[in-house]
Amino acid sequence: MNLKEKIRTVPDWPSKGIMFRDITTLIQDSDAFRETCDQLYERYKDMDIDKIAGIDARGFIFGSVLSYKMDIGFIPVRKKGKLPFKTIEESYSLEYGTNTIEIHEDSIEKGDKVLIVDDLIATGGTVKAAINLVEKLGGEVVECAFVIELPDLHGREKLKGYTIFSLVQFEGE
Ligand code: AMP
Repeated sequence: MNLKEKIRTVPDWPSKGIMFRDITTLIQDSDAFRETCDQLYERYKDMDIDKIAGIDARGFIFGSVLSYKMDIGFIPVRKKGKLPFKTIEESYSLEYGTNTIEIHEDSIEKGDKVLIVDDLIATGGTVKAAINLVEKLGGEVVECAFVIELPDLHGREKLKGYTIFSLVQFEGE
């Protein structure tokens, strides 16, 4: 199945010049959703991974399915102000302004091997902040997995030393 053609592109959303890659069309198609999760599962099922950290909000969709299939715990990395218990936080810059994400401080034990999951990597700023949170708690980032990668935005270059995996790439389009 061609997963790429299941992803809708919405031009100029949420602001002019952005080509928004919308995964809602993929997940509302049960075959495409299953195929996406199965491809991620095939890659990770035999790796030594203790926990999956999914990034708010679309990383929860794929990350939680994967944690269910792999029978390992799921950790939400959330936008600031959403987690009820004690958290640590990390800020990162966006095109305009900054953003802050948080993780519960008891969600990872020292030495845990963690897979980070999100729907899309653009500049890599979000996932870099998530990596910092996992590492601050003593976790080891095994790999970072995405459904979509935008290579034109050079996220990988910000993440030297980490393995970045994506199922679909939108390059020069
Ligand atoms: P970045 O931190 O630049 O790698 O941006 C990645 C985060 O922003 C992910 O959580 C994505 O869901 C979201 N994002 C950034 N650019 C896009 C885009 N063109 N289409 C859809 N989501 C995007």
